[in-house]
Amino acid sequence: MGELEGWKYCPRCRTELDGDGQRLKCAACGFVTYARSTATACALVEDDEGRVLLARRAVEPFKGRWDIPGGFLEEGEHPLDGMRRELREETGLEVEPLEFLGVWMDRYDGDSTAEATLNLYWTARAVSGEPQAADDVDDLRWFPRDELPAADELAFENVPLVLRAWQERAQRAGLDR
Ligand SMILES: [Zn+2]
Repeated sequence: MGELEGWKYCPRCRTELDGDGQRLKCAACGFVTYARSTATACALVEDDEGRVLLARRAVEPFKGRWDIPGGFLEEGEHPLDGMRRELREETGLEVEPLEFLGVWMDRYDGDSTAEATLNLYWTARAVSGEPQAADDVDDLRWFPRDELPAADELAFENVPLVLRAWQERAQRAGLDR
């Protein structure tokens, strides 16, 4: 199940499409499309005490659950520009990346039939602004590394995995306080 599930007709000329779930082609006008994962860019913003800023989702999917701020990249947008833009929109903070934490695959609503996402994570620090929830976020909170929300209070399947990787990385770096 994927992005092209249920596509029958060419979005340009309405001719019936040929192909499968990975690739569809229009014999009439030459339109071709591929099923792809949708990329997001997100940041674990850390403060001077080593806490991380999490955002509570104001909208479905996972409304009311804690998420790592970030969001979908726009067409042609550099992931770091997208990460800074999303953080500005959701938290009011101007942030700069520290280190690239990694890539996690997921499904947008945790269902195997949902849109596939490819999620890029950086650690980051705020360079200006005060945290203020906006856009699709209704609360922001700094969480100490050993007092993170329980797994069933977190959004998306990849978020608990990312937070665990972040905790382990900080421990390896000898940042225990
Ligand atoms: Zn066509």
